[in-house]
Amino acid sequence: MTATRDRDTYDLLVDGESVPAAAAERFETVDPATGEPIAAVARARAEDIDRAVGAASAALADWRATPPEERGRLMAAVAERIRDEQERLALLETRDNGKPLSHARADVETCARYFEYYGGVADKVHGDSIPLTDEYVDYTVREPLGVTAQIIPWNLPTNLFGRSVAPALATGNVAVVKPAEQTPLTAVEVGRLATEVGVPDGVLNVVPGFGAEAGAPLAGHADVDGVSFTGSVPTGIEVATSAVENVTNVHLELGGKSPNVVYPDTHLDTAVESTMTGIFANAGQVCSAGSRLIVHEDIKAEFLDELVSRVEAMEIDAGETDPDMGPLVSAEQFEKVTDYLAVGRAEAGEPVVGGSALDRDGYFVEPTVFDGVDNDMRIAREEIFGPVLSVIEFSTEAEATELANDTDYGLVAGIHTQDVGRAHRFARDVEAGQVYVNEWFAGGEETPFGGVKKSGFGREKGLAAVDAYTELKNVCANISPN
Ligand code: NAD
Repeated sequence: MTATRDRDTYDLLVDGESVPAAAAERFETVDPATGEPIAAVARARAEDIDRAVGAASAALADWRATPPEERGRLMAAVAERIRDEQERLALLETRDNGKPLSHARADVETCARYFEYYGGVADKVHGDSIPLTDEYVDYTVREPLGVTAQIIPWNLPTNLFGRSVAPALATGNVAVVKPAEQTPLTAVEVGRLATEVGVPDGVLNVVPGFGAEAGAPLAGHADVDGVSFTGSVPTGIEVATSAVENVTNVHLELGGKSPNVVYPDTHLDTAVESTMTGIFANAGQVCSAGSRLIVHEDIKAEFLDELVSRVEAMEIDAGETDPDMGPLVSAEQFEKVTDYLAVGRAEAGEPVVGGSALDRDGYFVEPTVFDGVDNDMRIAREEIFGPVLSVIEFSTEAEATELANDTDYGLVAGIHTQDVGRAHRFARDVEAGQVYVNEWFAGGEETPFGGVKKSGFGREKGLAAVDAYTELKNVCANISPN
């Protein structure tokens, strides 16, 4: 492998080589804490996508034929290498994305854990045998899709790289990864580390670039057999539409406006902490953020008092200082969130805490809580993707569940209560892909994740991703003696 990257220049990773884009163009990625450029990144276009898909196609047969335990060992080696480089990758992620350093460290560990977990799964992808009459033997085999594309957003770049890529490789697929243009650096680095530990050339390719220039030709490429898309609803619809033109398998992990229902019998301290994690982690730029607090009238005042005093104590600073919250990812996201702060003021009045941008360089806004929100308001219906919590009051269990479900989205839902029966009634009745009881973001790499309604279809994480990245073949043999 030839390394053509210097400290601030990142190339594509194609067929195990670091190469510039065919047109030799680059784009800049900036540090959201300062707005200053930090790296010049190769800008892939259709020609580069062709090259990467071609390299992946050429590598497919050998990778597919590689004994599963050997694939598993390689994946475990990737995990170890990522862990060895945790501090460097975390710092890079923080500079590229803005998130607090300890969050970036956790994301790097999560990425390593995905490679470890799916490395362990690689030799346990079984089919079934199906009992028919005595004349037949019938069994199923799980086969890789082939060339897969992973299109990744900017909010959890390293974490989602592991989530999308590790199950693909473990199950015998090859991959072409298109990281987000705002945060491409760690994807290139992790791809290089995988190549260094022995993942064969062409099995994992990384093509940074813009959505229309690199993402669209990848999603619509005739030689791509499976697309994993994580991002916004409008882009997801475009991606699925172009994938379907080629009858390509696609799954969509999209946005959310997730309800966090709090009952008076909750443990107040735990529920406030969980609520804050749910909406302020990663400055609210999380698909599964708990952005609608649906709180019982009997506990609302006490709950908000506690919440506001803790929010006022939050430290907001550049991610490298490891504060409670860093900046938003980009100037565009800053504009979007500050526009929503104005919308919130017009709809619900002054926020009970926060509500402004910070008077400093970079893309900082205050953690913000709007009380008195009606579920029909825009700040209750639209995904803000920032640290903005909308508080909605309820009085009965039926009303809470109705409010929770009164949304176009269905990614996650949470409940805080000590009443086990009520928690499970909510879990049964709520329209969401996963339900958190008494802890926002409960679960891990092992637990299936994905949405219903406008939040998408298909599942990642856990063993569900094995199904997503494989196709079932049925074999039926007539074994009659003639
Ligand atoms: P986005 O849809 O704008 O971009 C996501 C990715 O798609 C980027 O890599 C982008 O370059 C690419 N892209 C853009 N246009 C494209 C096109 N026409 N064809 C192919 N690719 C294209 O989303 P974003 O703003 O980067 O991310 C935020 C969104 O992602 C939010 O809605 C959030 O909820 C969602 N998200 C979902 C999950 C999940 O697991 N459900 C996780 C993280 C983020």
